[in-house]
Amino acid sequence: MKYIPYGRQTIDSSDVEAVVSALQSDYLTQGPAVEQFEQALSAYTSAQHTVVFNSGTAALHASYFALGLQPGDEIITTPITFAATANAALYLGAKPVFCDIIPETGCMDPTLVERLITPKTRLIAPVDYAGLPSNLSKLADIAKNHDIKIVEDACHALGAHYQEKQIGEGTYSDCTIFSFHPVKHITTGEGGALQTNDSQVFEKAMQFRSHGITKNPESYINKVSSPWYHEMQFLGFNYRLTEIQAALGISQLKKLEGFLARRQAIAKYYTEAFSQNQYFELQYSGDGVVHAYHLFAILLRPELSNKKNKLVAKLHERKVGSQVHYIPVYLHPYYQELGYTKGLCPQAELFYERQLSLPIFPSMTDSEVEYVAKTVLDTCKKVF
Ligand SMILES: *Cc1c(COP(=O)(O)O)cnc(C)c1O
Repeated sequence: MKYIPYGRQTIDSSDVEAVVSALQSDYLTQGPAVEQFEQALSAYTSAQHTVVFNSGTAALHASYFALGLQPGDEIITTPITFAATANAALYLGAKPVFCDIIPETGCMDPTLVERLITPKTRLIAPVDYAGLPSNLSKLADIAKNHDIKIVEDACHALGAHYQEKQIGEGTYSDCTIFSFHPVKHITTGEGGALQTNDSQVFEKAMQFRSHGITKNPESYINKVSSPWYHEMQFLGFNYRLTEIQAALGISQLKKLEGFLARRQAIAKYYTEAFSQNQYFELQYSGDGVVHAYHLFAILLRPELSNKKNKLVAKLHERKVGSQVHYIPVYLHPYYQELGYTKGLCPQAELFYERQLSLPIFPSMTDSEVEYVAKTVLDTCKKVF
């Protein structure tokens, strides 16, 4: 048995062919395949607009910018996320305010959001943790009442549904963000996307991706009509995706439904295999949602969590990879230096101590899935 990581990409010969033909085409940087990938993503989720970027982080940055996040503004987000969700606010001089989580789901607790709102709050950025959609309708109600916008970090949740709605279609969120990092549902090596139904946010995000430059004569500040003219109107970045990556993304997206079905089948197997165990609980799988299972998260019984390191080491010896998602963002030294202190979000800190992600990715074989389930239970018995 070879080592089984907690997540990895699934690449086949059709992906390889797509990339090779992109390399042989006329364009390498942003060209027709990028637009085609955007259209395919819009069609998949029914979002009106998609802008792809060279990372999910860049897409988050663009969404915060396009929704008007300014220096000194506040954004309410969750500590149980990849640092990027909060970092993108810091890039704009804004302040992340961390809201504690619901222990059973790992998602932001909407009942705690309102008391964190101040006159400076401009955005709420929930994370669909592990692929489980956040309580989007409650968050949308709060946002509406306070004239705040929602950026949904759905980097774990491409293909998830919330109350019959595909994540990304935009009923509850002003922007939805996806990542195409290799451990995510589909990959472009590095990459990400922003979806929105707001055409102004869309235009801003497109321009942000290319230095704040526009080539649309209708929006020029200076009235110049020369064909070579283009105008830089604000400070943007080079956040473009290449044709090579877009070609891979188009090819991967065609297989997404199969990838999702496989992830859900693995989760179902684990859920049954672990149903009677006395060592850990499983993440609540949601009500009225389709969980996309980017991660399969287990939560050790609190009194066992001090032996998590030993469990991880023993699993590793037996070729079962695992990972912790996540160290609460504000406990990282950089954030501690900014003044955030331990104890800020007690449920998130407890979740961090208890949580472990087990291997789940589409190319896992049935025998690997069975091996992981058996090995996890057996190792728990030995360690605890
Ligand atoms: C993957 C991920 C991102 C974006 O990561 P990139 O590596 O920049 O694509 C953002 N938020 C969460 C929760 C993620 O898992």
